[in-house]
Amino acid sequence: MRVLLVEDDRSLAQGIRVALRGEGYTLDWVADGVEAEHALHCERFDLVLLDLGLPRLDGISLLRSIRGQSEGSVPVLILTARDAIADRIQGLDAGADDYLVKPVDLDELKARIRALLRRSQGRAQPRLEYAGVSLDPATQQVFYQGQTVPMTPMEYQLLHQLLARPGVVVTRERLSSTLYGWQESGPGNTLEVLIHNLRKKLYTGLIRTVRGVGYLVERQP
Ligand code: CA
Repeated sequence: MRVLLVEDDRSLAQGIRVALRGEGYTLDWVADGVEAEHALHCERFDLVLLDLGLPRLDGISLLRSIRGQSEGSVPVLILTARDAIADRIQGLDAGADDYLVKPVDLDELKARIRALLRRSQGRAQPRLEYAGVSLDPATQQVFYQGQTVPMTPMEYQLLHQLLARPGVVVTRERLSSTLYGWQESGPGNTLEVLIHNLRKKLYTGLIRTVRGVGYLVERQP
């Protein structure tokens, strides 16, 4: 999952980056509202973490601008100061899905992100289950027929993307954007290598290649 962090407090941003990358998220970071608006206009993210007090364009104005666009349904979690109740209310009314009070507790942040992503994928149950494969976002574990299958963070993220949308072809562009963000892929973690690894670790028929377009897991009968 690809997350955009909009936060001008460098040390907080660094803490969140380390925590979320450790969970296998692809995290891109911008430190002002105008850059964030540009990033959201040009690229696709699964979730936005939004500070409200930002240089150049404040968080509430940015949020209104996101929600004013036709493609503006990305889940937004705002980060606010403890005493700023009015800001929180304004944020929720402007279209935020949730908020977290600073100082941010990183475990709570991770749990709220999981909940928002689950909701945005239209699921209530925390685990993704598919033809003997079970994926648990809370622990980042994957099971096949009840046995734990060890995954690298990138393999896990790729599988998560595909299992979240059975029957839908996920394009190579979208998968690359989700997996790498603004980083480059390395030789050991290209899309082809990761797909190959998943097929080997689970089973070959799980992921179908749609030539020239992308990949999918078939919708279960
Ligand atoms: Ca700030």
